[in-house]
Amino acid sequence: MKAQPKTANELRRAVLARGLRPLPKTSVSTWADNYRVISSGNAEPGRWNTDRVPYQREIMDAFTQPGVHRVVVKSAAQIGKSEIMNNVIGRFAHLDPAPIMMIQPTIEMAQDYSKTRISPMLRDTKVLNHRFFTAKSKDETAESKTRDGNNTILSKIFAGGRLIMCGANSPAGLASRPVRVLLADEVDRFPASAGTEGDPVDLAAKRMTTFWNHVSGLFSTPTTEGASRIETEYLAGTQEEWRHECPNCGEFHVLRHTDMETKYDENRDKDGHITVVVESVLWRCPDCGSKFTEREMKNAPQKYVVQNPIALKNGTRSFFINAFSSPWLTWKGVMKEWYEAKGDPVREQVVVNTRFGETYHLIGAFDDETPFLRRREDYGGEVPHGVLILTAAVDVQDNRLEYEICGWGFEEECWGIQKGVIPGVPNQISTWNLLDEILDRPYKLAKGGEMKIARTFIDTGGHFTSSVYEYCRMNLYKQRIGIKGRQGAGMPLNMKTSTIREYGIPLQILGVNEGKQQIMTRLGIENKGPQYFHFPLDDHALGNRGYDQIYFRGLISERRKISFRGGQIHVEWEPVDRVTRNEPLDLRVYNLACIQSFPKNWRKLADMMGVELPPEKEKPPAEAPAPQRRQGLQMRSRSLNLY
Ligand SMILES: [Zn+2]
Repeated sequence: MKAQPKTANELRRAVLARGLRPLPKTSVSTWADNYRVISSGNAEPGRWNTDRVPYQREIMDAFTQPGVHRVVVKSAAQIGKSEIMNNVIGRFAHLDPAPIMMIQPTIEMAQDYSKTRISPMLRDTKVLNHRFFTAKSKDETAESKTRDGNNTILSKIFAGGRLIMCGANSPAGLASRPVRVLLADEVDRFPASAGTEGDPVDLAAKRMTTFWNHVSGLFSTPTTEGASRIETEYLAGTQEEWRHECPNCGEFHVLRHTDMETKYDENRDKDGHITVVVESVLWRCPDCGSKFTEREMKNAPQKYVVQNPIALKNGTRSFFINAFSSPWLTWKGVMKEWYEAKGDPVREQVVVNTRFGETYHLIGAFDDETPFLRRREDYGGEVPHGVLILTAAVDVQDNRLEYEICGWGFEEECWGIQKGVIPGVPNQISTWNLLDEILDRPYKLAKGGEMKIARTFIDTGGHFTSSVYEYCRMNLYKQRIGIKGRQGAGMPLNMKTSTIREYGIPLQILGVNEGKQQIMTRLGIENKGPQYFHFPLDDHALGNRGYDQIYFRGLISERRKISFRGGQIHVEWEPVDRVTRNEPLDLRVYNLACIQSFPKNWRKLADMMGVELPPEKEKPPAEAPAPQRRQGLQMRSRSLNLY
């Protein structure tokens, strides 16, 4: 049934809404300059002014450019992308009403965005306030509705359209109804599939085909090289880089960190934490070599330079902006973050992605085991000071068991304790008895006392699954738990715990690709501290601890392989060669999964063990990239409820 105006007032309003609609091609920037009000609580409240942040103009105006159906923005964080998206929503809702959808990585983020970004805009921008809060849905009468009756957090009706907020993890919302304007925020954090329904952006894009004038905007800070959706989308577009003119030679350049000349002091405290104080930063023109200050370059003429104009034929414009052009960030601040992150791949990636706006080249393929052999240390005992928990991992082969025992300290700093081989066929009880000797015995702490292995993960793959199950059943009370590795993208390391009914034991399912990625990332960490891998020198008293050349060759025996299948990026691991055994890598993955399967409070543990920790730091700002999309660096652990 069509909505019929019921009162004279409503009729007048309906006529006004239709009859006095300004020209549909009013650009987003013109709309924003005329109508948009930035709510208080933002960095710069008051009337919107596009001239203030000139790189935003072309992005916004691409949304109404004839023939453009896709707008891609690969950028640093804090360049004002939320306001760009808000202006697109405002312009269409006000002047060219249509169904609009915004996708955030999760439903929770969509709710949060709606509350903290959309609601203030609708409240404070007069023309939007009018359109959103007086609109009526089809089946409601004037009497029954309140002022805000049609609006929920995830669905806001306005005259002629509706704004729907979705989470990329929820297929239900994405497939709901036709959409003309689609905004996808932080696409690199989207899951590869919304439930089982497939790619969330494709899913939403399917709803757009009914509109000839549909347009979608994809926004994100990039993630890892070769696995970044925004990078792929950017390359498929016009590749417009925001550049500044060199005041000396007149060439236009992207301001890159590699051209920044930074004077700074570096202080390292006793725990190895680095604090950087930046004295000055100058940009050095790569063409003429002249140097300029931040103020000079931010005042210099700026424009987008198109790298791939042909993409306009496909209707895709793509843009790149990094933090050095942002009015909300200082060069000093960015370079401080960079130098403080150097040497730690996890922190480096944060800066590269969220400040430089670039994908991060993962360290992962190590050419050579020598650096690891060299960095082995004297622990001063079997279990060095700092270890708070011991875990063990067992790999089951046809003629032997291989095991590794790891010590874990604050924030998963890790010490290899012992790597070894138990010869014997796994269906012989004697083989397992030998394993018991390793797993049952107490390990000596460097500062006195002893520690036992808290939990062991044992591989159940291979030819002796029932023997492993039986061993796990007998030793469940000692937390010896069967595991099964699964290949495949997007699976968290501790994917889930299932049950082997016949034996009444839990079976932990591991996403091994994720685990291998985490191991490679951590092998690249050079500063001792959180997530660092320590390896021991052989010890006079303890003998061979197993961390020899063959061990390290095995540890780095696989490399990441990236492939594209059906438009999707797949990350797999393949052996570097056919001869090197990869058990050391598998064992380390199992140990990592094992420690991450515990609920734990490092500070409490350290307190009990008399280990001193650095003082608690404030949480990093919300800008830090959250979970990676396909091969996360973050810890996603699910607890095994065995306590
Ligand atoms: Zn120059």
